[in-house]
Amino acid sequence: MRIGIDLGGTKIEAVALARDGQELARQRLVTPRHDYDATLRAITALVAGLERETGETGTVGVGMPGTLSPATGLVKNANSTWLNGRSFDRDLAKALGREVRCANDANCFALSEATDGAASGARVVFGVIVGTGTGGGIVVDGRVLTGPNAIAGEWGHIPLPWPKDEERPGPACYCGKSGCVETYLSGPGLARDYREATGSELDAVAIAERAASGDAAAEAALARYEDRMARALATVLNVLDPDVVVLGGGMSRLARLYESVPRLWQTWAFSDRVTTPLRPPVHGDASGVRGAAWLWGRDE
Ligand SMILES: [Zn+2]
Repeated sequence: MRIGIDLGGTKIEAVALARDGQELARQRLVTPRHDYDATLRAITALVAGLERETGETGTVGVGMPGTLSPATGLVKNANSTWLNGRSFDRDLAKALGREVRCANDANCFALSEATDGAASGARVVFGVIVGTGTGGGIVVDGRVLTGPNAIAGEWGHIPLPWPKDEERPGPACYCGKSGCVETYLSGPGLARDYREATGSELDAVAIAERAASGDAAAEAALARYEDRMARALATVLNVLDPDVVVLGGGMSRLARLYESVPRLWQTWAFSDRVTTPLRPPVHGDASGVRGAAWLWGRDE
């Protein structure tokens, strides 16, 4: 049995999967914010609860905010700041009495879709989360590619490629740079672009609704969004040439992207023809917790 934990800022979700991917049990708890020891206890309680419910013992994988720094072994870049600077994987392993595997949420998303989702059976998968932020993860042969700095797939913080004059230097990003892909392709990035063009405040969902009903300013904002996504993903195609690209996060619900972006990326990718499929997620919001479970492979 594979147990996946999705450690979020407001809740901790836990799922137990059979080897064929069938969900055996699911439990959740409110995240004890700003209390590291209580966070460890909550995860331990969830694992014990799932094992009681199923009568089986499982491996444990955790999708977490931030990353375990390969340099220090400590959590870095977590917006759940009480985890930063902690040796989370070792502390949790001690609490559970077994080895634990951890990965960030974008990597778990990519792994979930690669294992038994939209990219099932593909060798090289690029998974993208476009929502509140913009993240990415790479899965090769069913394993997450992490890299020596644990930044493989961190696509949100490359600069928007082939920028137009009005896109330079681009919006300031929380990472300290300007013009990062995240500042354009996150939901708030689309809302900012629309506000700068029109002076009015709408969120991404409302912009998409207006565009669908024929509003010219909203349509123009979405067309800019699609062109930017195509440029940004063409860069990924040039470097990685994945077999499948899967979108996740709130913006992945925008059905038109799956037709427009692959049409537009033909212009930018370094190839006479691009056949790469761009697919919507199969598991949607459940991908984080399912991907965490699959940090232990099906066939291990
Ligand atoms: Zn950035």
